[in-house]
Amino acid sequence: GTPLAVLAAIGRAASNGAFIKGGTHLEALSSVDTVIFDKTGTLTEGAPQVVAVHPAPGTTEDQVLIAAATAEMYSEHPLGKAIVAQAQARRLPLGLPESFDYEPGRGLSAHVDGRLVQIGNTTLVPGARQSADSPTLASATAVHVATDGAFMGTIFLADTVRASACQCVADLRSMGLRVVMLTGDSHVTGRAVAAEVGIENVRTDLLPSDKLAAVDAERAAGHKVAMVGDGVNDAPALAHATVGIAMGSGTEVARQSADIVLISSDLADLTHAVRVARRARRIVM
Ligand code: ADP
Ligand code: MG
Repeated sequence: GTPLAVLAAIGRAASNGAFIKGGTHLEALSSVDTVIFDKTGTLTEGAPQVVAVHPAPGTTEDQVLIAAATAEMYSEHPLGKAIVAQAQARRLPLGLPESFDYEPGRGLSAHVDGRLVQIGNTTLVPGARQSADSPTLASATAVHVATDGAFMGTIFLADTVRASACQCVADLRSMGLRVVMLTGDSHVTGRAVAAEVGIENVRTDLLPSDKLAAVDAERAAGHKVAMVGDGVNDAPALAHATVGIAMGSGTEVARQSADIVLISSDLADLTHAVRVARRARRIVM
């Protein structure tokens, strides 16, 4: 059976917000030497807000938002939800897409009134001109919009770093752990957020398969890896990590793919769980 010390440790972690799905995951957590964080929704709150809309010449802000919000109407992605919320706040007339295709790590393609609307980064909307002219927009995420291949404009969204993120990164470091950030977001935005939370090891512009490959590479190099994420795009990486950790506020698929769930998405609960796991290991082994 499961040693009492392990059961007690799982109980202690649970009462501190970390739901550990079994004793083997507690042991895995105690052995981890590297913690990899996703950015959006993990180190940040994942509740971005539209801070600016830059329409292409001949297009209005509202036209960009109507096309984007209609296409994103069913979107579960925080960027999609924020775009819909902004359009609703402006009381713009929104329809529903006839069909839509989520392209993890890149954006979304949808049919609206028979026209193809594409929303996302420059890999999905290649005609886009990245136009973060003001310094306040440098750390904002740029989402480009095109209809039937014609560039309509760029929507800038800003996210807030979680209150618990900086302390968590500092604590994990002082416990001797390597800390890495992986993101599907752009170089500029990724770097800005990493600097804010104190992470130097950063990789940006990643597809879900790249995140997975990064976790596999760390493990192949002999590291024991905890992957912390929230999104559909993190699920494969969570499943391949030594221990996968999902944010409670994250997607269903991330929570299912993970071994541990941070119920209230408080990163301090992660630090605590690592301490509890290490203590239990000393008692049991
Ligand atoms: P992260 O790895 O930081 O959690 P994602 O992989 O979810 O980020 O997204 C990476 C990038 O893909 C975003 O910065 C955005 O440019 C684009 N993107 C993803 N989903 C959407 C969406 N639903 N609407 C618009 N853009 C999106
Ligand atoms: Mg995310």
